[in-house]
Order: sequence, then C-alpha cells, then structure tokens
Amino acid sequence: MTPPQAQGRAPVLELTGVTKEYPGSPPLRVLHGLDLTVEAGELLAVVGPSGSGKSTLLALLGSLDRPSSGRLRFEGRDLSDLSDPELAAVRAHRIGFVFQQFFLLAGLTTVENVATGLLYSGVPAARRREAAVEALREVGLGHRLGHHPDQLSGGEKQRVAIARALVGRPALLLADEPTGALDSTSGRSVVDLLRALNVGGTTVVVITHDRDLAASFPRRIGIHDGRIDFDERRPHPAGAAP
Ligand code: ADP
Ligand code: MG
Repeated sequence: MTPPQAQGRAPVLELTGVTKEYPGSPPLRVLHGLDLTVEAGELLAVVGPSGSGKSTLLALLGSLDRPSSGRLRFEGRDLSDLSDPELAAVRAHRIGFVFQQFFLLAGLTTVENVATGLLYSGVPAARRREAAVEALREVGLGHRLGHHPDQLSGGEKQRVAIARALVGRPALLLADEPTGALDSTSGRSVVDLLRALNVGGTTVVVITHDRDLAASFPRRIGIHDGRIDFDERRPHPAGAAP
C-alpha cells in the first residue's frame, strides 16, 4: 500500500540493479544487483545475518558511499549525476543518521553535540543552538542540555544522537542497529521515538537484529548474502493486529 504522503511525489529511494564491490584481489562483491523502492512516509526494517551487507546498503542509501554499478535515485535525482560536494549537500540537508555506537563527541555538551547536526547546512550558530535545544526537548532531554555524554545513560546518548539526526528536519532517517547497545527498556523508548518521527512525516529505515522490533514495523526487507531475500508488508495498517 502506498502511504498517503507519497501521492504525486517521487519515491524517496529508488534502487535499480545496485551492486557494491570492495576493492581487493579479487574484489569482494557484497551487494548483488538490488532493486528496491522506498516511498515517502514509509517505516521499514532491514533484517539479515551479520555480514549480509546491511551496513553497506545503509551507506549507499545515505549517499555516504556510491554503488559500484546500478542506479540509485534519491527523491527522483540520480545520485550518479551529482559531484561529491553535491552529494554531501544532499546528505546535510535531507538525510539523518543514527548508529549503534552513538558517535557523540565527548568534549561537547548535549546541545553542542546536537548542533553539529547543522554544521554543514549553512544555518548560523545562534540558530543552530536554538534548533538543538528544540530537538533535545522533542526527544525528552530538555533537562540534560548541559550534560556531557559520559554523564548520560546509553538510552539518553542514543536520544541525543537522534536529536542530532533530526535537528536538520531530514526527509530520510537511517538507523543502523540503533538499539544494539541498549537494554530493552531504553531500546523501546528509542524505537518509540523513531515511530513518532515517522508519524510526523519522516521516512525511516532501521537496520536491526531484533526480530520483535522488525515484526512490529509495517514493512520488512530481509538481506541475505547481499541479495534481497524477502520484502514483506503488513497486510493491515500499522498498529492493527497482524
Ligand atoms: P552487515 O552490516 O550486514 O553485518 P556489512 O555491510 O557490514 O554487513 O558487511 C558485508 C560484507 O562486506 C562483510 O563481509 C564485510 O566484511 C565486508 N565489508 C564491509 N565493509 C568493508 C570495507 N570497507 N572493505 C572491505 N570489505 C568490507
Ligand atoms: Mg552492520
């Protein structure tokens, strides 16, 4: 089913025959000709065993890396037509990232960490700070503005990382095992936050090992040995019993 937000819009992501090889002799082919379309407003999980190519795929979806062959369109634009600086601009303005290891800067406060999410977007410093405070309130951390990462729990760190990802109001949020380093309660609150962002209109793609988490998403893509193994959509609207 096409989400209502997607009507009349190009898909957020459209992959045609995408392959990825890492250099070496012989080169290591990690993705083997993937075809995949993600519409605006979708919430989907990517699942698969370790080493199956999930993180490699996420790097391509987020234009952190380029395919070895095949086409990747983002919001209707073929990314192979873009120079590296143009690609970086797409990343800075349209895409947010969340990783298992948080990647917060230890010497910065939560506000400063979140404000780095706007560093490459041309927003003036004072406005970056305001937006960071706003984003931290949105993730429930309005009372931790001056804390440093080592003063936060794992779940709080991940919420700071999510605030940093959403501060630029991206169209697409990509999360690679965002609950992988968290206890189940913190993990749940992180997932609830990702869902809330999705309800707000952000397209969300989450890589996860957590079967229950994946099962609760309206769409699940299985990756196995660099190929799409399955692409399932829940037959009922999100929230309804399966
Ligand atoms: P997953 O996230 O599903 O665990 P990855 O995408 O990280 O899988 O890795 C897929 C395969 O590609 C693995 O065999 C891994 O060793 C290899 N790989 C990942 N990154 C690189 C790299 N930068 N250079 C060479 N091989 C890599
Ligand atoms: Mg991985």
